[in-house]
Amino acid sequence: MMQSKNEMKVCFDARSVNEGFARVAVAAFIAELNPTLDEVADVKTAVSEAVTNAIIHGYDDPNEQVQLICKIEENRVEIQVIDTGKGIPDVGKAMEPFYTTKPELERSGMGFAFMEAFMDEVRVKSVVGEGTCVWMCKKIGV
Ligand code: ATP
Ligand code: MG
Repeated sequence: MMQSKNEMKVCFDARSVNEGFARVAVAAFIAELNPTLDEVADVKTAVSEAVTNAIIHGYDDPNEQVQLICKIEENRVEIQVIDTGKGIPDVGKAMEPFYTTKPELERSGMGFAFMEAFMDEVRVKSVVGEGTCVWMCKKIGV
């Protein structure tokens, strides 16, 4: 049986252009698990949603930093997307499908719903004024 353990951390500016970077970075990192195209697409979508949220909702200043941590343990990938921005007052409500605080930006409120659909587990820790950590995991090849 393959035994593998690996971890990476990156920090980047809270700029929309970095959504693409984060997607590709995670996809490249999990390549050692030989994921299917569908599995890669699922993880990329979830990462994109979490990173977009950090950039759009977490911060007003694009010079602030988003941290992306990705861990592999055997066939399981664990991802954290962390911002030290505004935080979420009611996480339960924020995670409901169609709930958005930015309808004027044509947000549909489906980001967390997509993360939950595409990953095995999603957990959100957030403190108003301190920031948000989105933790998610997925088994690859099951
Ligand atoms: P969509 O993702 O469909 O474009 P959305 O971003 O509003 O719309 P979700 O991603 O589900 O929808 O997030 C729901 C709400 O949770 C957001 O409108 C925002 O109020 C809050 N939120 C999510 N992530 C963060 C974050 N990192 N910091 C602060 N608030 C957040
Ligand atoms: Mg969103």
